[in-house]
Amino acid sequence: MHTIRIPKVIKFGENALSETEYPKNALVVTTATPELSGKWLDKMGIQDYMLYDKVTPEPSINDVKALISDFKDKKPSALIGLGGGSSMDVVKYSAQDFGVEKILIPTTFGTGAEMTTYCVLKFEGKKKLLREDRFLADMAVVDSYFMKGTPEQIIKNSVCDACAQATEGYDSKLGNDLTRTLCKQAFDILYDAIMKDKPENYPYGSMLSGMGFGNCSTTLGHALSYAFSNEGVPHGYSLSSCTTIAHKFNKSIFYERFKEVIEKLVFDKLELKADVSEAADTIMTDKGHLDPNPIPIKKEDVIKCLNDIKAANF
Ligand SMILES: [Zn+2]
Repeated sequence: MHTIRIPKVIKFGENALSETEYPKNALVVTTATPELSGKWLDKMGIQDYMLYDKVTPEPSINDVKALISDFKDKKPSALIGLGGGSSMDVVKYSAQDFGVEKILIPTTFGTGAEMTTYCVLKFEGKKKLLREDRFLADMAVVDSYFMKGTPEQIIKNSVCDACAQATEGYDSKLGNDLTRTLCKQAFDILYDAIMKDKPENYPYGSMLSGMGFGNCSTTLGHALSYAFSNEGVPHGYSLSSCTTIAHKFNKSIFYERFKEVIEKLVFDKLELKADVSEAADTIMTDKGHLDPNPIPIKKEDVIKCLNDIKAANF
């Protein structure tokens, strides 16, 4: 038997943001400045809402507690996470405490977080990746409206992450026929959008990627990427090389097309300051990504992959 979890309702495509009806007296949670969130709220056409915009980037459990203590008495009818991962994670975690439904509206794309049961929060200063069914959105609204004004570099890194998640997810041993269908379709859409310059399709492709990999996992490419994240390299950028090399190692059916996408987007070569063997030791502890990899991974394999990445030996 297989289980797939996705939000109850998904509104997507052109005008999804303005055509969706929002419940009255909802609490909108965002990290955005009043100037920016004001523009977004106008576009949504939402009325009679409360606003909390004090969520800090990379939020901690304290942000959740602050939200609950400030607003629980005001009895919001629903929580709306409007923003990037930070706003959505705080809403994912706190909705149960309010006993209300949650609506997630991503203003960035790439991670597909609006589709998944993942939640990232800091506890005692340490980032934790949590996964619980209760973190799933009751409704997600995905609209490419937010891409206007997003810096080119961020769009590039984000779409690279979406491509990596879709293709690694397809190869995951935790996957099934339905996750593979979603992951494959996600990559087909992203590939077409990148090669034919249709960025307006990125959020939809990324949403499908989230539905797919969110119900299985990512694999070797993501495991390798953390050596670079530790040195401050943006997540999506590190995957440009890491996932390409992982696909080569795994003989993935996506290897050639993934490489084409990376060449089209144009990424610089990755540098690694850490000692390769030490980085490999850390990567080897990442069972969450390595166990579902289609081929068993030994430390020598990780070392070879890291050396190939450093030499841009694609
Ligand atoms: Zn990722």
